[in-house]
Amino acid sequence: MNKIKNKYILIPIFAALLSLVALLATNHKTNTMNYKSYPEFLKDTSSSVVSTVEINASSKINVLLKDGTNYITDNPNSITLKEDLLSKGIEVKTSAAMPMAQRIPVTILGLSLLSLIILAIRNSSISGSKITSIEALDGQSIAKEKFNFHSVAGNEEAKESLKDIVDFLKNPEKYASYGARMPKGVILYGDPGTGKTLLAKAVAGEAGVPFYAVSGSDFIQVYVGVGASRIRNLFKKAKTHGKAVIFIDEIDAIGKQRDSGKNGGNDERDQTLNALLTEMSGFSESTGIVVMAATNRLDMLDSALLRPGRFDRHIEVALPDIAAREKILNLHLKNKPIKNVDLKDLAHKTAYFSGAKLESLTNEAAILACKDNSQYITHEYFDKAYSIVLAGYEKIERSSMSEVDRRITAYHEAGHALISLLKLPEEKVSKVTIIPTSKGAGGYTLSLPKDSSYQNLDYLRRRIMVLLGGRAAEEIVFGKDKITTGAFSDLKHTTNMVNNMVTEYGMGKSLGLLRLSEMNNFINNSDISSVIEECKVTVDELYNTVKVTLIENMNTLEVIATELLEKETLNHNDLMNIVDIDIAV
Ligand code: ADP
Ligand code: ZN
Repeated sequence: MNKIKNKYILIPIFAALLSLVALLATNHKTNTMNYKSYPEFLKDTSSSVVSTVEINASSKINVLLKDGTNYITDNPNSITLKEDLLSKGIEVKTSAAMPMAQRIPVTILGLSLLSLIILAIRNSSISGSKITSIEALDGQSIAKEKFNFHSVAGNEEAKESLKDIVDFLKNPEKYASYGARMPKGVILYGDPGTGKTLLAKAVAGEAGVPFYAVSGSDFIQVYVGVGASRIRNLFKKAKTHGKAVIFIDEIDAIGKQRDSGKNGGNDERDQTLNALLTEMSGFSESTGIVVMAATNRLDMLDSALLRPGRFDRHIEVALPDIAAREKILNLHLKNKPIKNVDLKDLAHKTAYFSGAKLESLTNEAAILACKDNSQYITHEYFDKAYSIVLAGYEKIERSSMSEVDRRITAYHEAGHALISLLKLPEEKVSKVTIIPTSKGAGGYTLSLPKDSSYQNLDYLRRRIMVLLGGRAAEEIVFGKDKITTGAFSDLKHTTNMVNNMVTEYGMGKSLGLLRLSEMNNFINNSDISSVIEECKVTVDELYNTVKVTLIENMNTLEVIATELLEKETLNHNDLMNIVDIDIAV
């Protein structure tokens, strides 16, 4: 597609060049013609040797003599010149504009420059797109592969709600005859990679209608108005087919809440959003067009989008639970030669993995097996792939990490691991490593949380202790002034958790059962500072407990850290072998 576009761009370029050459040529011709000064010309007119004079808007006039020769002279731009000449019996040719020989190339030049500008604008907007192909941006159907609900594993509730939409797309007239108003817009919301795009494609596939996909971020252009006109084009194209699914990924890019304070009003985005709303109210429910949009955050969207007659159906697409994870793994391994792979175990190990992450896990394992020319993809490859997907590729260049950094990382991770073993014995520490990841973490400790929808206060407090274990170990072993920034992300999670406990989950004292987010307008500064104070006291208290625990188990901390420095990575069994604590897992 891009190539074709490039080819088209050559046409105006050629035309522009040709017309430039033509212009230069005519100019050259004028320049090389004989020239006489105006007084000489006036002399000629009086001595009646002139037969014809050609006057136009240009700065020169053309003079043809009776002997057949000609020359040019300066155009005095006088109104009386023509009358003078006529009275002397000289023929006068006038043309208001420039001569034909110039007019044509000038027109062509103008036209080709114009089309170059248009092409440039369109191209610049295309280069800004990340996800969708150019075909999709031009509003064409991109469903080359056939998708249906069998392509989506798990997500049972979402599929159930979408079955209505499929039925409606198949028989919009039937619904209309019952006077039923079907949703024009559906919003799928949930974490990235949970299958929202896949579900939208599946709806189109099940209903047998074309699928038009665009991404909200593609509509935010440099040129005001481009986004809006593209929205209109998209709907126009979709309508030519009668029935269609229009999919707008990242709808939040155009439909974010219009809090003028923060964004200072974004004209382009507003125009695009308005165009979308206008288009959506512009077609009737019985047309058989459904607009599906995806976002990670439903709460971020402008309420104008969510009103009845717009995106009034909201479907959550959640992270898969253990059973769904097994189904997704199964689906993506269907055509892969696997052997000795315990999918139940794999599903268990992949808590909080999205469908996309699971797909990438199966793909990594396949690539690794292929690189080894192994006949089957065995569990070893899945183990390796697991670490890769989880932490990004393990850095090959390990020497770049200084010895001091390694020691600090080893004690930091040992601290997490030990506190996890002692305080969260129900969670299995499956891996501790000091190998830096490409994602920037110095190392990581991985424990497998239980699949459970509720987390009680006691669990949350113990979870925070595990998070604080890294920094506490650093402080105990290396001293207070040697602590590092390595705990940045731990502290971020800690802060979020304790903040939620006090302000959202009704687990704190300063607000009791009140939720801070519901009271935006009533809360004053002293309430906020008492909330912060409570969060701080809670974390301080947990941090002290962690330090005491680590000091009491200093020997074990040393053992784990030393082993980590030697082997760099310890799995669950390694850990159990070196740790002398009675833990039932
Ligand atoms: P989203 O739009 O929610 O970010 P996608 O639909 O683009 O996620 O998912 C990306 C890829 O992840 C899909 O193409 C598919 O390979 C895989 N995937 C995600 N969810 C599922 C699922 N429920 N079943 C099967 N594959 C899935
Ligand atoms: Zn840490």
